[in-house]
Amino acid sequence: MNEQELLTRSKITELSESIKQTKNEIEELRKACPHTTSTIQLLDGGKQVCKVCIVCDEVTGYATPQELDIYLKN
Ligand SMILES: [Zn+2]
Repeated sequence: MNEQELLTRSKITELSESIKQTKNEIEELRKACPHTTSTIQLLDGGKQVCKVCIVCDEVTGYATPQELDIYLKN
């Protein structure tokens, strides 16, 4: 590796570490969240209708057809 590549390598390592830490932090917050209120979101390009916590963005389950219906009417 030349000097530029080494610099890039070290920046990538640094950023990857920071992503890891951020993910852990999000995971901890999600674990502590009671997920009291969910909204419906279409995931996987609209193939999946999921319930997502409005506080922490965690997928808490799949929406039933009834729930989807209520969501679409609102
Ligand atoms: Zn939550």
